[in-house]
Amino acid sequence: MKKLSGKVYLVGAGPGDPGLITVKGRTLLKMADVVIYDHLVNPYLLDCTRRGAKRIDVGKECGKKTLKQMEINKLLIREAGKSRCVVRLKGGDPFVFGRGGEEVEALAGQGISFEVVPGITSAIAAPAYAGIPLTHRDFSSSFAVVTGHEDPEKERSRVDLSKIAQSVDTLVCVMGVGKIDDIIRKVRESKRSLTTPVAIVEKGTYAHQRVIKGNLKDILFKIKKARVTPPAVIVVGEVVNLRERCSWFESLPLFGKTIVVTRAKENASLLIEQLEGAGAQVIPFPTIEITPPPSFRLLDKKIACLHRYHFLVFTSVNGVESFFSRLKKLRKDLRCLHPIKIAALGEITAHALREHLIYPEIVPAVFTSTHLAKEFKKENMRGKRVLMVRSELSSELLPYQLKKIGAKVDEVHGYTVRMPKVDSEKVRRLFKNREIDLITFTSPSTFIHFMALMKGAPVKELLKGVTIVAIGPVTRNAIEAQGVKVTITASPHTVSGIVDTIISYYCTKKR
Ligand code: SAH
Repeated sequence: MKKLSGKVYLVGAGPGDPGLITVKGRTLLKMADVVIYDHLVNPYLLDCTRRGAKRIDVGKECGKKTLKQMEINKLLIREAGKSRCVVRLKGGDPFVFGRGGEEVEALAGQGISFEVVPGITSAIAAPAYAGIPLTHRDFSSSFAVVTGHEDPEKERSRVDLSKIAQSVDTLVCVMGVGKIDDIIRKVRESKRSLTTPVAIVEKGTYAHQRVIKGNLKDILFKIKKARVTPPAVIVVGEVVNLRERCSWFESLPLFGKTIVVTRAKENASLLIEQLEGAGAQVIPFPTIEITPPPSFRLLDKKIACLHRYHFLVFTSVNGVESFFSRLKKLRKDLRCLHPIKIAALGEITAHALREHLIYPEIVPAVFTSTHLAKEFKKENMRGKRVLMVRSELSSELLPYQLKKIGAKVDEVHGYTVRMPKVDSEKVRRLFKNREIDLITFTSPSTFIHFMALMKGAPVKELLKGVTIVAIGPVTRNAIEAQGVKVTITASPHTVSGIVDTIISYYCTKKR
């Protein structure tokens, strides 16, 4: 009997902006046992793969072929024989100059089942992010996408560029940087006016996207001067002029900025989304990891006698999630919390509680331990019992302040903060090459672990010129205690506060 093989999914990763992968594509990435990807794929997309998933880079950079197409086909067949879900992740759309057709043919030839998940091709996305609509009622009713780099072994080119340029209003050319002289020469032969506008969009949809605009006459000179490198798409046609009015991406407040986010993977998505939404390129570098505590015994014991407490204090989302997951596990009804008063440090913590239908009574307007303690001072705390669900790294300040006003404080560890096993090499290199503009720290431990992960590197030297952002004064003080100057402290001390503070920092700097 023939051995049952897995399924191969050819998934389009989109052009670069991680938000431009399809929902189906991301779901499959999360499920994959193996991911086989190209160099055009944004590597940060791989962060959503599950722990233990195998990642194989078959990156083909122009001139630096690592695996031949035949070898990739064989690899796909081999992996399908070993795993259930193989994702073949390809830049843009798998069937638009991605040799996806050949891979599918090879799979079909072996009777291996497959699916194709289309992606947003760079041929459309890069012009869109440059503010160039490929069609427009007044200027363009047709467009063609061509390759500027056909298989050099082909005897005769199948692309008659002059003819195509004559027949369509807008011409989009991928893989054209290396042959730009030829391409422009052929388009000129189409007898289009020399004033026809041309744009090159380099690294489209990334925060470092560059657009060089000219016309058929001067574009070669401009491209050479700007030293354009792949990946880039070339757009020829009247629609290029619309860029003046339709450009949007490059006007986003954080466009061109590369930002390192050190938050735990589990908690970073909101911050990353908001920064990316403001145009930044985000490098996730989780320097902390949230794991369950060595034992839930103590927390479970406290949950069993909640009726003894007057106050319950949560200082982080992790504490909230851990507490409620134990309530669920122990099959406790929400009413076991009555009539305890609940306090939350930070709007995000309060929000997490509301998601569990708990509306905390005590949420300080300023999200620091000292302000939370001030709120407690309004209550008569003498002899009152307080339960705090935190991590072993949480600051001693709050329990100390509560005890000072007469409360009896019990602390219990709902989660553990650890230093994850991450490869810091790439981030070190980015700092060294001065490619990082800004780094965010959202707790003292994110910074302390950052220092540990950078061990052996001249950290102060690497951080020179980098804008350092702390979520609040506690984090700032912890950073400055190590002799590193914090550039800006977020206000309010929330994720949105961080993003707004960064945006206004750059806006004031520009002025
Ligand atoms: N299947 C891909 C195309 C692969 S061919 C797609 O649908 O996008 C590789 C070419 O795509 C590159 O040489 C470049 O011309 C173009 N390309 C890919 N990503 C790009 C990006 N982010 N910006 C500009 N061009 C890009």
